[in-house]
Amino acid sequence: RRAGHRDAVVVIGLGRFGRAVAEALVETDTEVLGIDAGPDVVQALSGSLTHTVRADSTKEDALRQLGVQDFDRAVVAIGSNLEASILTASLLVSFGIKHVWAKATSEEHGRILSQLGVHHVVLPERDMGQRVAHLVRGRMLDYIEWEEGFAMIRTNPPAGIVGIPLGESDIRSRYGLTVVAVRRPGEGFTYATPATVVGPADTIIVAGGTRETERFSELR
Ligand code: ADP
Repeated sequence: RRAGHRDAVVVIGLGRFGRAVAEALVETDTEVLGIDAGPDVVQALSGSLTHTVRADSTKEDALRQLGVQDFDRAVVAIGSNLEASILTASLLVSFGIKHVWAKATSEEHGRILSQLGVHHVVLPERDMGQRVAHLVRGRMLDYIEWEEGFAMIRTNPPAGIVGIPLGESDIRSRYGLTVVAVRRPGEGFTYATPATVVGPADTIIVAGGTRETERFSELR
């Protein structure tokens, strides 16, 4: 086992999605082995990732030569080539890699990846589409949803909670929501306390039920 491989991540397929994952990992000081079959892609990214290699990830020998079996974390970011995505994911799972992530381009693709034993299947277009729908409908600035209808939003405060301490605004009993953090214009976010007084130009982060957060963001 080569030193550092446990913490490093292998990203296979360096299209728009894979590239974004790989570059974000490098930015946060994670070593990345990037693999792609395309010479141009490999050339373009050779300076920005820790290692960038041209290889066909559907070939077991090619992956073994690169030491892919020694990684604990792998991302399959091949989208449009269904066959390559499935063959690659299947090899990674058979290597016993502990955390395999794979991008799916459709629900069906995602189902096959799950059946293969891929631990984390992501559907970026579907997820982003759903998120944008919330932004469009709810007027919030940002929206993140977790399981079972629980969400967190970034939004401007409605008039009803401005100018009084959060502890007195009854936001929990009135809306079933909790203000988590507040940002004054030009400053960073700080944790909200019952004594925090929200100003009209502040941005707030609010946590609670999906419907409740959406309704709250529509208040003026
Ligand atoms: P995106 O939509 O994120 O841009 P694509 O599916 O278009 O994703 O790109 C996937 C990348 O995966 C491409 O750069 C392509 O060269 C690469 N790829 C496809 N098949 C293989 C394979 N068998 N081995 C390695 N890389 C591959």
